[in-house]
Amino acid sequence: MKLGALEAGGTKMVCAIGDEKGNILEQISIPTETPEITIPKLLSFYEEKEIEALGIGCFGPIDVNRKSDTYGYITTTPKLAWQNYNIAGAFKEALDVPVGFDTDVNGSALGEYTWGIARGLNSCVYMTVGTGVGIGIISEGRLVHGMLHPEGGHMLLSRSREDTYQGFCPFHENCLEGLAAGPAIEGRWGKKAVELAGEQKVWELEAEYIAQALVNLTCILSPERIILGGGVMHQLQLFPMIRSRFRQLLNGYLKTKELEDLDTFIVPQSLDDKQGIMGALKLGMMELERNT
Ligand code: ADP
Ligand code: ZN
Repeated sequence: MKLGALEAGGTKMVCAIGDEKGNILEQISIPTETPEITIPKLLSFYEEKEIEALGIGCFGPIDVNRKSDTYGYITTTPKLAWQNYNIAGAFKEALDVPVGFDTDVNGSALGEYTWGIARGLNSCVYMTVGTGVGIGIISEGRLVHGMLHPEGGHMLLSRSREDTYQGFCPFHENCLEGLAAGPAIEGRWGKKAVELAGEQKVWELEAEYIAQALVNLTCILSPERIILGGGVMHQLQLFPMIRSRFRQLLNGYLKTKELEDLDTFIVPQSLDDKQGIMGALKLGMMELERNT
């Protein structure tokens, strides 16, 4: 079976053709410009590939409520050219195949749940720490939506006393994304995150904020595993620091078999950064099943 997958990001679009086993057969990446410029390029990639369905994991906010008139739209994004744009509709109309649609991070959670390190579980949280912070959730075997979709990157945190950086979220002084996404690291320390690799205090503070967020997620969602991806998480020294601070902050309150070994509870992405595009494939497959 041939399936299309699109990981629609604010800076680039990753397009792939794959199969129902999660194999990626072909993949390209193009910059995200305006819909008028970018969509025709994407369509020409998928046309004549004889795909049976397309799955889109999309930057947001987006409308994932099937009952809504604007289902399939990118809604209030700060990327003005894409505001109120019917992205799922554009592909459905042009390609005439079922189009699965969800957030990029729900896509990544689904990729890990189907083919990666969350396989066989009933619940997991996927968090990306990159240009922004996003959270995808699977609970009782289902992707979590709600009135809109989770926006866990904007959960409020306790600011570290020594941290004088103002945060870069225009809405919140103390949200996870504003304090801990890549641009926050760069704004606070004045260098590219990758160039700060050897600076212990940079990653201690980063681990503090991520650990706070993971305690909140654990207490609210009770996931069986938390998977961390995105550019910033390439700093693998963060993992032991996050686990250690997570244990301190949770302070023995929860006692489960999952929490006994944090090396298997808080883990890096396992699909070589293909979790998003593989999850998009699965979104396409799921939509095809719904329609048959
Ligand atoms: P996006 O979030 O746009 O999809 P990424 O997940 O690659 O893309 O995140 C980009 C952010 O991650 C940038 O702020 C960048 O500085 C940071 N980043 C990328 N690679 C690394 C790395 N190896 N170490 C630390 N930070 C990184
Ligand atoms: Zn915010």
